[in-house]
Amino acid sequence: MSSPPFAVDPTVRTSGSSELAAFRRSLLRASPSIRRPLPWVGDERPWAVLVSEVMLQQTQTSRVIEPWERFLERFPTPSACAEAPLAEVLNLWRGLGYPRRAKALHDAARTLRDDFGGVVPRDPAELRSLPGVGEYTAAAVASFAFGERVAVLDTNVGRVLARAIENRRLADREARRLAEALLPRRDVALFNQAMLDLGAQFCRSTPRCATCPVAPRCRWRREGGEDPAPRSAGVSRPQTRYEGSNRQLRGRVLRALGEGPRSTRQLDVAFADVALARREEVLASLLRDGLVAQRGGVFLLAGSSEAPSVDARTAS
Ligand code: SF4
Repeated sequence: MSSPPFAVDPTVRTSGSSELAAFRRSLLRASPSIRRPLPWVGDERPWAVLVSEVMLQQTQTSRVIEPWERFLERFPTPSACAEAPLAEVLNLWRGLGYPRRAKALHDAARTLRDDFGGVVPRDPAELRSLPGVGEYTAAAVASFAFGERVAVLDTNVGRVLARAIENRRLADREARRLAEALLPRRDVALFNQAMLDLGAQFCRSTPRCATCPVAPRCRWRREGGEDPAPRSAGVSRPQTRYEGSNRQLRGRVLRALGEGPRSTRQLDVAFADVALARREEVLASLLRDGLVAQRGGVFLLAGSSEAPSVDARTAS
C-alpha cells in the first residue's frame, strides 16, 4: 500500500460540521449584543462601504468615524469623487495617515466612473480590479453592501478561527477554507460583522474569555493548551512608531500644502526643525507617489486646480 502524500498528525482533530453549526448559531444569537455602534455598520450603500473599508485598512476604527462622514458628505457617489481634484481628496483625508490610499480611492472612483457606469460592482473579482482594493476589502464590500456569500477574513477573524474552532495554528489557506465553511446560508453580512465584532472586542491578542459570548463553544477554552494565535499576525502588520517618523513628516508636508502651494524657501522656514536631507527625502517620496506636484520651485498638492500663487522670486 502506498503511503499518503502528507503526514497526518493523529492528534489533530478538525471540527466537524455539527461543531461549526453550533458555533455559528451561538455567534448569530450573540450578534446584536456585540455589534459595535459604528456609523458604517449596517450601511449597505456600496460606495459608503468601500470608502469605510479603504479608510479602515490602516487606521484605527475610532479615527475613521469623523473622516468617513466628512468624506461621504462631500463625495456621496464615486462620480462626485472622480470629478474632484486629487488635492481636495487629500485634504479630506486629514487625520487618517497613509495618504497613498486617498490617491488609490480617487483612482478607483475614476475607474468606477469610466468603466463601471459610476456604480460599485458586486463581484469580488471586479472589485479587486479597482486600485487599492485587495482580497479583504473586496470581500467586505461584496458581503456588507451586496450580501454576497463570501468570508470576510482579517487578522481578528483568523484569531477566532484558530482559537475557537480549531485550537491550532492555521495557515492562511486553511483559515480561508474554514472561514468559508463557517458561513451561514443566509444572513452572511450579519455573520461576517459578528465575527469582526467578536475578534475586535473579545478574541483580541489578549483574549477576554470571561465575558465572551461564545465561550461555551470555544474549543481552546474547552481543551486548553498553548494559545494557537499568540500574536497579531496575518492581514495587518504591526505598525512602526509614528512619532518622529517619515510617515508623520509626510502628513505634516501634505497639511502645509493643503493650505496652498509653497516655495522651497517657504518650506525651509516651515520645516526648519527638520534636517534638509530628510525633508528632501520625504518630498521626493511624495512626488514619486503622485501626491505632490512641483512646478518650478513651487510645491503643491497633486491635482490642485489652483495655479501656484507664491511669488516666483521666493521660489528658489
Ligand atoms: S472564549 Fe476566549 S479564546 Fe474563545 S472565542 Fe471567546 S475570547 Fe476567543
